[in-house]
Amino acid sequence: MEKLLAKVLNKEEISKQEALSLFEKDLPSLIRASNIVKKHFKKGKLHFCCAVGLKIGNCSQNCGFCAQSGFYETNILKKEFLEKDLFLKFLKVNSNENISSIGLNTSTGYYCETNKEYLKKMYSYVLKTSHLKICAAHGILKNQEEAKELKRMGVFKYEHNLQTSANFFKNICTTHKFSEKVSTIKYAKKAGLLCCSGGILGMGETKEDLIDLAFTLKKLGISSIPLNILTPVKKTPLGELGVKISQEDVLKAIAVFRFVLPSSNLILGAGRSFLKEKLRLAFFAGLNGMVVGNLLTFKGDEVLKDIEMVRGFC
Ligand code: SF4
Repeated sequence: MEKLLAKVLNKEEISKQEALSLFEKDLPSLIRASNIVKKHFKKGKLHFCCAVGLKIGNCSQNCGFCAQSGFYETNILKKEFLEKDLFLKFLKVNSNENISSIGLNTSTGYYCETNKEYLKKMYSYVLKTSHLKICAAHGILKNQEEAKELKRMGVFKYEHNLQTSANFFKNICTTHKFSEKVSTIKYAKKAGLLCCSGGILGMGETKEDLIDLAFTLKKLGISSIPLNILTPVKKTPLGELGVKISQEDVLKAIAVFRFVLPSSNLILGAGRSFLKEKLRLAFFAGLNGMVVGNLLTFKGDEVLKDIEMVRGFC
């Protein structure tokens, strides 16, 4: 491991095989090493963002982990358009100086399925009333023009999670292809948008799949990587199977991602409740950010508490 640590600190890339070998190391030594990598490349820099669903549920896609897919009868509270008043309240609470961007999500498989007039209005509220940068997540982009359009509308970053490896993807979704996801990121980048893309751990993927995901993200030059741990949702195919990863392997995966992507922001999305008392170790292992605000966090002090908690961990 000392050899790999020296290589990464020297800005040399490690191979897939070397990354895979890290999973075999004992956890304390591995996360001590990945913490050195994090400190060296991130220099204490933390990343906080908030996210809100503008359209919730009834998605045209069949992602097997997702409560919002129209294919499954989940208990989610569906919403076609988030109301302006609720949105402005959310914006106010999350306009904390430590939060840099707001994720505006729509449960649409493809961007072309969104209501663009509505999106424009919501974007304008963000731009006029807050310092937050817009990170849009509206599904697959079919062409370059769609990415350019988003840029013209004031979007700063596009979020499109690869979710898993190219090889494992067929096990979690059959209504769109992994290659469409990769093209989406390429269109967004070419249009001058930053990209945020990550994945979900615990869906039954192998360690090789996790390594493949990390290397694909590296190849695409992704600077913000949300790592989520599967939150099983009743009546979805993956919800019935449960979380297929141990806490220890989540910590190891975070450490390996930090070795492969030393200067990217590794952000914790869903998964806090899975990690429980190990949450601190997840930050020690390599995370340097978290999604802190969602529609349920209407109390400003909860957002602040999260920020202070992460600061204490890092
Ligand atoms: S495309 Fe997105 S919103 Fe739709 S089912 Fe898949 S993960 Fe859920």
